[in-house]
Amino acid sequence: MTAIVSERLDYPPFRLPAETEALRSEVRAFLTAEIPGDRSEDRFKSWNTASPEFSRKMGAKGYIGVTWPKEYGGGERSFLHRYVITEEVLAAGAPAGSHWVADRQSGPQLLRFGSEEQRQEILPRIVKGECYFCIGMSEPDSGSDLASVRTRADQVNGGWRINGTKVWTSGAHRSHYCIALVRTSGTRENRHVGLSQFIVDLKSPGLTIRPIINLAGRHDWNEVTFTDCFVPDSALLGSEGDGWMQVTSELAYERSGPERFLQNYHVLKELLRVLGRQPGPRAAEIVGRLAARLWTLRQMSLSVAGMLEAGKAPATEAALVKDLGTIFQQELPEIARVLVESEATDEADLADFLDTAQYSSMVAPSYTLQGGTTQVLRGIVARALGLR
Ligand SMILES: Cc1cc2nc3c(=O)[nH]c(=O)nc-3n(C[C@H](O)[C@H](O)[C@H](O)COP(=O)(O)OP(=O)(O)OC[C@H]3O[C@@H](n4cnc5c(N)ncnc54)[C@H](O)[C@@H]3O)c2cc1C
Repeated sequence: MTAIVSERLDYPPFRLPAETEALRSEVRAFLTAEIPGDRSEDRFKSWNTASPEFSRKMGAKGYIGVTWPKEYGGGERSFLHRYVITEEVLAAGAPAGSHWVADRQSGPQLLRFGSEEQRQEILPRIVKGECYFCIGMSEPDSGSDLASVRTRADQVNGGWRINGTKVWTSGAHRSHYCIALVRTSGTRENRHVGLSQFIVDLKSPGLTIRPIINLAGRHDWNEVTFTDCFVPDSALLGSEGDGWMQVTSELAYERSGPERFLQNYHVLKELLRVLGRQPGPRAAEIVGRLAARLWTLRQMSLSVAGMLEAGKAPATEAALVKDLGTIFQQELPEIARVLVESEATDEADLADFLDTAQYSSMVAPSYTLQGGTTQVLRGIVARALGLR
């Protein structure tokens, strides 16, 4: 085995610098004041709940675009400061859904590939918590195999005309822009060449947004259809034909954050509340195992954050954090439900838990799909280790 492993996985121990603790206390105090009522059902939805009002307040505190240059309104702080804010927002189950994608990946994409005009126009609005983005990658026949997208943009006078359909577009109905991956040249056979990204104004003529209701009965997803949808030349993000390189770098932002193990942290908190301070030995053992898994995931994720801050590119380590973290999140609601059903002594507590945690059980299957499926991530890890 050792002989064929060309690269070793490395998770050097990492601690957040002491200076981030002051920020943590400040963010925690802000969240406690802003979202009273510790057990509202919304807490279980965390960053799937959108609240423009909350996003504007996050913006006013300087908690969006934390690492971005000051000239675009950013905080010019480290990725570790951003990490602390993200952890606190998730642990509080805060309704951060409006600005989540723009802050995590669209803004950084604009910083890396956007024109000066695009940055000046859009980034300060994102930082204020007033401008929201969605991701237009997947299509009815293109998910894991993203390079097979069929949505096309053809050059016309002064811009591009887009035709095609995007699907599973989270939050399109409440966003201002979609970054769409489309084919501008080349063929499906020469798949990685000829793809481009466009910043599409979701109010563009020829663009239709239709809701897709998920298993939990919520409208988070959409189908976005482009029918001769005109976008100006200034909507092109980066260079024509560079879409594949750009989109793969974007996926790296999506994979490595604490949302991959803290998305349903509230289930664990509620479980502890229902079990009380003196759980029986079986319950204590199961909770101990959950806590140990969570802590290990956090240490691995922190290690990745430390490497990113040091300018390294730990893509394989990040993919494994997402793989293990999302499996933990997927198993948590069911483990908690079974435990509460057998251990809760108070009927009202039991009913309350089942009611509020139901959402988490229904969305759990999606954790190992969004942002790259488990099987695809394992393929990436196996390739990096020289195993395939
Ligand atoms: C909650 C949620 C939110 C989402 N939000 C967005 C969004 O905002 N924008 C967007 O563009 N997309 C979004 N998606 C779509 C998501 O990116 C796709 O679901 C994902 O990429 C998988 O694609 P697919 O659904 O077409 O499945 P497929 O790619 O068809 O995969 C089906 C199955 O085959 C397996 N498989 C596929 N290829 C391989 C392979 N090479 N090796 C081994 N196994 C393989 C997969 O692991 C999976 O189990 C979202 C999905 C979810 C669940």
